[in-house]
Amino acid sequence: MWRVIGQEKVLPILQNNIAKHSLAHALLISGPPHVGKMTLAIDIARAINCEGDNPPCGECESCLKIENGKHSDVQVISLISQNNDIEEKTRTEISIDDIRQIQHMVSLPPFEGKRKAFIIEGAELMSMEAANCLLKTLEEPVTPSVFILITTNIGLIPETIASRCQEITLNPIAAAIIENTLISVYDIDKEMASLISRLSRGCFGWAFSAVQEEKYLDKYFEIRNKAMEMISAGLHERFVYAATLSTQFTRERAIVYDVLDIWLDIWRDVLLLKTELKDSVSNIDLSKQLEKWAECMHISDIRGSIQAIQETKVKLNQNANSRLALEVMMLDIPVIIGNIVKR
Ligand SMILES: [Zn+2]
Repeated sequence: MWRVIGQEKVLPILQNNIAKHSLAHALLISGPPHVGKMTLAIDIARAINCEGDNPPCGECESCLKIENGKHSDVQVISLISQNNDIEEKTRTEISIDDIRQIQHMVSLPPFEGKRKAFIIEGAELMSMEAANCLLKTLEEPVTPSVFILITTNIGLIPETIASRCQEITLNPIAAAIIENTLISVYDIDKEMASLISRLSRGCFGWAFSAVQEEKYLDKYFEIRNKAMEMISAGLHERFVYAATLSTQFTRERAIVYDVLDIWLDIWRDVLLLKTELKDSVSNIDLSKQLEKWAECMHISDIRGSIQAIQETKVKLNQNANSRLALEVMMLDIPVIIGNIVKR
């Protein structure tokens, strides 16, 4: 059974390729965070190694081992694949050593399965040397291995690598499909399922984590409350928060990107409300407040705020001074008190 849900365009093609033993030796899966890219990659690894009649059966030893990360022919390479707590938080790229390890593994026949699978998560984070090294491996396939590259940003994958891969694009899933699945699988009430499906922005992984993981939503709401509070806060408060985020950034970058994505979601919703596209709003539980802000703001201010947040993400990616970048963002987003907008 394929575990990936709501990707009907993609699955029949893959199933057909696997059944005919014509699956490409390199795949590039792209899509937004939590949309199901890793789930699909693991599904493919299961399908090509499955011992059952209907791969991936999900029941044979191979399927189970792969699902539990215990199969010696399936390897996941990512920023956090080193099992090293300190390194995991500070590593910002996939190094040539990671790829060299793969090269060594590729040269050996499968240990226990039919076909080795190497899943590279965050493929856009490969260093230049790592990408060149991988390119050589892709150009000279020796053993029956499959490379599955996963990325949230296909534009950052070198063309030389992308051109050697079969591209698979996963699109966000309709909120109604996620809502119905949450209700049927987890038996949660409709209102909650509706809110989670909207907040997930079409990404099942996010929605499942929100339901399954204790405190996942609490943490999310905590960040969102702070974001809402900051919209009416003065510059002093905003700069204090910028300093806190900047300190966090040196320890765990991902949290700060999450914060910025939540800020972006809020401002996108304000824009949607301003342009009368209410049905597409994510933060449906905040729509009254967001609608008030949309009413008193000029559309150019809303667009400017979105741009300021996006630019901050780019600057942080380029290793700019994080505190300065966050302070500039705080300055660029207007302060709204009541229905007065202060620029
Ligand atoms: Zn199986």
